[in-house]
Amino acid sequence: MAPQRRKATLSSLGEFGFLASVLGAVGRGRGVRVGPGQDCAVVKSATRSWLLTIDSLVEGVHFRRQWLTPYQLGGKSFAINASDIAAMGGVPRYALVNLAVPAEYPVRSLQRLQSGIVRAAHDYGAAVVGGNLTGSAQLSVTIALVGECPERQVTRAGARPGDHLFVTGTLGDAALAVARLQQRRPVPPAVLHRFSTPAARVQAGQTLVQRGWVSAMIDVSDGLLQDLGHLCEQSDVAAWIAAGKVPRSRVFRRLRAEDRLALAGGEDYELLCAVPPRFAARLRQMRRVGGCPITEIGQIVTGRGVRVVDSSGRLVRIEAGGYDHFASRSQAAPVD
Ligand SMILES: [Mg+2]
Repeated sequence: MAPQRRKATLSSLGEFGFLASVLGAVGRGRGVRVGPGQDCAVVKSATRSWLLTIDSLVEGVHFRRQWLTPYQLGGKSFAINASDIAAMGGVPRYALVNLAVPAEYPVRSLQRLQSGIVRAAHDYGAAVVGGNLTGSAQLSVTIALVGECPERQVTRAGARPGDHLFVTGTLGDAALAVARLQQRRPVPPAVLHRFSTPAARVQAGQTLVQRGWVSAMIDVSDGLLQDLGHLCEQSDVAAWIAAGKVPRSRVFRRLRAEDRLALAGGEDYELLCAVPPRFAARLRQMRRVGGCPITEIGQIVTGRGVRVVDSSGRLVRIEAGGYDHFASRSQAAPVD
């Protein structure tokens, strides 16, 4: 190993650089139909296939204690995992929870955190079936979630040139909430709600996959541009999006919040999907799917990378977007 290599740290390699370096060595085994690198893995048992996913919320990285009540933290920890299940059109079923908690953390708060998780699981039709409690310098919640896999398998890797790009709901509110919390400015309740109590688009994901309307899908957790970048890379295609078409909430528009927050801000947990031309007109007409608004924002083309254009087709430059836990080049972390 070269000396330079030995000195490499996570900040020089980046979250996605590191993940890419280990993906080749894992993910094989009997019954593994989709390995790591997607929103969920898919494993097949004798009778059916299951989706498996895991995610954490860590104090000082994803939240500060004063930003979220323990109950909200529990609910959000579940929802971000349910969102990965939604991205593959599945149904959340069984959760395992790991709570890493500082010794001085109040028992009452821990009970509320736990009931936030259990309540969210119940609301999504899932059950918490086990867990673990460990001491830690920082509060963190990790949930592993198992979901029913639909018959049709949709990953990030099926988009084709000519497919239309659609996104559910609105983007940017969660990042706007974080920006305002960091600046200690007031946050409108509707905007704060999107950060503290995100909703996974499970129903929309199921409908889109079951009807066969999508060729590829991903949930928008790290920011639209970054997550679209992952979809394009895995599908070996490029994409453009029209900046003005990216749906923003009424409050977001009223506050004239920066475009960057809608295009590159994370934690919206909406679904981004590629739709073959023969289904695009129908979705455009429907405007809603699974009880959730859906908006066309761009198109898949040949090539590499993601371009953002304005209403006259001119290229728009957006600051390096999305969140990478370790890359020194990435934007400021959600929590400083
Ligand atoms: Mg995801």
